[in-house]
Amino acid sequence: MHQMTLAEIARGLADKKFSSEELTKNLLARIAKLDPQLNSFITLTEDLALQQAKAADARRANGETGALLGAPIAHKDLFCTQGIRTSCGSKMLDNFKAPYDATVVAKLAAAGAVTLGKTNMDEFAMGSANESSYYGPVKNPWNLEHVPGGSSGGSAAAVAARLLPAATGTDTGGSIRQPAALTNLTGLKPTYGRVSRWGMIAYASSLDQGGPLARTAEDCAILLQGMAGFDQQDSTSIDEPVPDYSASLNGSLQGLRIGVPKEYFGAGLDPRIADLVMASVEALKKLGAVVKEISLPNMQHAIPAYYVIAPAEASSNLSRFDGVRFGHRCENPKDLIDLYKRSRGEGFGPEVQRRIMVGAYALSAGYYDAYYLKAQKIRRLIKNDFMAAFNEVDIILGPTTPNPAWKLGAKNSDPVAAYLEDVYTITANLAGLPGLSMPAGFVDGLPVGVQLLAPYFQEGRLLNVAHQYQLNTDWHTRTPTGF
Ligand code: GLN
Repeated sequence: MHQMTLAEIARGLADKKFSSEELTKNLLARIAKLDPQLNSFITLTEDLALQQAKAADARRANGETGALLGAPIAHKDLFCTQGIRTSCGSKMLDNFKAPYDATVVAKLAAAGAVTLGKTNMDEFAMGSANESSYYGPVKNPWNLEHVPGGSSGGSAAAVAARLLPAATGTDTGGSIRQPAALTNLTGLKPTYGRVSRWGMIAYASSLDQGGPLARTAEDCAILLQGMAGFDQQDSTSIDEPVPDYSASLNGSLQGLRIGVPKEYFGAGLDPRIADLVMASVEALKKLGAVVKEISLPNMQHAIPAYYVIAPAEASSNLSRFDGVRFGHRCENPKDLIDLYKRSRGEGFGPEVQRRIMVGAYALSAGYYDAYYLKAQKIRRLIKNDFMAAFNEVDIILGPTTPNPAWKLGAKNSDPVAAYLEDVYTITANLAGLPGLSMPAGFVDGLPVGVQLLAPYFQEGRLLNVAHQYQLNTDWHTRTPTGF
């Protein structure tokens, strides 16, 4: 049962081969048995899941249909869930129960999805390895000594290990695409503004975007359909109709213009990954695509710009966690300043503290122009590079990450080494563009992802290309041993 994709589950439920309740019980038992090895969940919501599953079965019995009606999913633990802990992977919010559901949570629940639990993540979504979580690291099901990527590492590990078919994630600089690549999943970061950020605990508000992690593009289409749409509660949500993503999967790739940026193949890229990327290009050519070399000349400035902008926004967003308005409060404070200092010092882990300090520094008087304003100008140049490229091509293709999953602890002493792994993903966030990572092969038994980028609101095109690729390759069907 656990091998089924969302699409297969929807068919099975429609054909009455099994009920959502049976499926939910089956997966909850599987999680109880296998998750101790992975640590992919922070909170399990068995009671809620069974209640939602029964309700979904009743709705189907009444003649209702829908691809998500009765489908088991999980939420990254930064989507607020009413009455259920939303920890953001932090001691700061270890006892925080939101008084409301995030829009994404509410929309998926209304579509009949069944929430099995809340998944582990890097603390406040800061990281690329899921090692900064207060709840301990997540293991990669492909090799338990390796990281699953981050910050949506719990969602990725759980879906890759077939504990459930799909989960939500968020992507500020790659946190959906990078863990998808490192665990052999398909993950989609939508256009900025496509999915509501209301009730999604903010890391860097101008970059954050929620999206789906699943095994196939077909399933990403189903989950995205349930997540996307205008929301009055989010001032950056875009009031554009949501297309039928599943209907876009079957378009022909004849004449599709793929751009491959020459800057993607510089030093730092594992040559075996470069070979797999080129093999994916060949596979798409066979389907009728034409390939062109393009240039994104400002890409080299993306990491420094991102690691100023994201911490700057984080330093402001995280000021609310002060032990008074939100979050952990220290014992016996001497006075108000002591309360703030010790509550924040105890509640936040080292990576979060580092980013708050970097961000506060970059925003301070005298440094603002030199760092923050400069970074914003680079951001514009990066967007301009993409706009120029999309005049010539329909889609941009390259590696999702320069290396496969590294060993747990390997980059702990050197944060910048981990930041460099984000080189291919962060440009899409800086420009607000949609991006998708899809499975494209293995290096030393570890999965490798290929990233596709498209113009604004062309999520359907990304899903179409990935789906056609998946109809003609079988990387995405490979299952990690032991799961
Ligand atoms: N790895 C990046 C960071 O640490 C991206 C994280 C994310 O997308 N949430 O900031």
